[in-house]
Amino acid sequence: RRNRMSMTFDSRSENVGIARVAAAAFSAQIEFTLPEIEEIKVAISEAVSNAVIHGYSDQEGQIELAMELYETHLEYTVIDWGKGIADVEQARQPAWSTEPERMGLGFVFMESFMDEIEVTSALGKGTTVRMVK
Ligand code: ATP
Ligand code: MG
Repeated sequence: RRNRMSMTFDSRSENVGIARVAAAAFSAQIEFTLPEIEEIKVAISEAVSNAVIHGYSDQEGQIELAMELYETHLEYTVIDWGKGIADVEQARQPAWSTEPERMGLGFVFMESFMDEIEVTSALGKGTTVRMVK
């Protein structure tokens, strides 16, 4: 591992943009193309938004974004200690959402824009989304 950074912040929507910019800045340590950086920003935004909107829908809490730089790739981990996901496989299906007004595409974006995504979750304990690019 060549570098690591982690930030922990309140589950507020205004922090989504800050996390997104931090991820882009950290990612600049690898020679990504501009479109790749955009993809990372979208994936991080989706993961952090999910933590704010779903993880902490009925409470406030903390979100951690951890980023690790390796020789050939980057790893991003978004953690919340909120309500968790009952069925991760179902949640990752395109157009599946627990909220009717939402598109249910966050996980689809994360999957298509990153090389790897791993979601672990436990009801009442929280959710961890680990992504590699
Ligand atoms: P969109 O991202 O298009 O606005 P969405 O957030 O509902 O819609 P996804 O991001 O794909 O769609 O997430 C699918 C579902 O997984 C959500 O509706 C929610 O029920 C659940 N979910 C995702 N992330 C979390 C989380 N951090 N905590 C609790 N539930 C989550
Ligand atoms: Mg979402």
